[in-house]
Amino acid sequence: MFGLYVHIPFCGHICSYCDFPKRVPFSDKEIKLYLNKLISELHSYSAYYKDIDTIYIGGGTPNFLSDYDLEYLLKNIHNCNISAKEYTVECNSEYLTLKQANLFKKYGINRVSIGMQTINEDGLKLLNRHHTKEDIRRSINSLLENGITNINIDLIYGYFNQTINDLKLDLDFVLTLPIKHLSCYSLILEDKTLLNLKHKETELDEDLIADMNILINNTLKANKFKHYEISNYAKEGYESRHNLKYWSKEEYIGIGQGATSYLNNKRITNPIYLYKYLNNEEKTIEKLSQIDEMKEFIILGLRKVDGILKKDYIKRFNRNICDDFNYQKLIDYNLLYEDDKILKLTDKGLLLGNIVFEEFL
Ligand code: SF4
Repeated sequence: MFGLYVHIPFCGHICSYCDFPKRVPFSDKEIKLYLNKLISELHSYSAYYKDIDTIYIGGGTPNFLSDYDLEYLLKNIHNCNISAKEYTVECNSEYLTLKQANLFKKYGINRVSIGMQTINEDGLKLLNRHHTKEDIRRSINSLLENGITNINIDLIYGYFNQTINDLKLDLDFVLTLPIKHLSCYSLILEDKTLLNLKHKETELDEDLIADMNILINNTLKANKFKHYEISNYAKEGYESRHNLKYWSKEEYIGIGQGATSYLNNKRITNPIYLYKYLNNEEKTIEKLSQIDEMKEFIILGLRKVDGILKKDYIKRFNRNICDDFNYQKLIDYNLLYEDDKILKLTDKGLLLGNIVFEEFL
């Protein structure tokens, strides 16, 4: 089965750390042009509709769209008769209204991901996020009133000047919310972001970030969240089916500006600039070699806390992992664990995943 990713690049303002394809729209006309192009791209994949079982509308900020535009998009997706078991939309709590939650319910959305990042006021300023913790509570109430209970919160930690106690307050707040899933990302200073421009010279404190990671792990586990991917935690049965497709290297379709599809051993990427996407400029098609496929299968698969089933590797490549890669050193350093069935990161490996992944590149 396939996943479908739908990219809405529009945002009300730009967060200082963001390197996603996004923009503050110039006009209403630009949004309408984009939605029409997006829907025609969706129709070009009609042969796949019956085999899609997850949909993820991400961004950008999908719920920055007006109610009229949002309904236009959702109605068009609905008309494709895709029977998705999991249907997620990303939201900014600043804009999330009862009317929007009502539209989500009406068109079958059953999972909502809210970008909270932090509730610390200095942190919100640094990240250029404009919501308040009241917005988060109000948004969640609107969703619950519409029967949408599968809710994710995104958290960012390790930003400049954040203390362990600040993080603890964020976690305490999050744990008062009736949510099923948490994604916790340590801040990355991506190139060409406002944060990087301003703080290029500032070093992130790696030791503090490791301590924060441990605090997150211990706190969430103690509160019955299962750690199932390096940065992701869920209540039992609420793991993200759509994102698991990426980590299990299953096939997916991505539509919209800068979106990527993975189909038939090819990575197909849409133009990264909006005007190029709107002008139907060529997609970039990269044919993955067998060795690329193997490396990606391992690197993505090891992100899952349960790791890789060796029989899945054999099924996919008709070979044994240990014949293709030498990872004994990682086992000796207690970064990887292996038995006759699985290969997975150890607790230490989960903290130092990048060191492990480099060995498979
Ligand atoms: S809302 Fe999301 S996509 Fe938009 S600027 Fe902020 S992080 Fe980027």
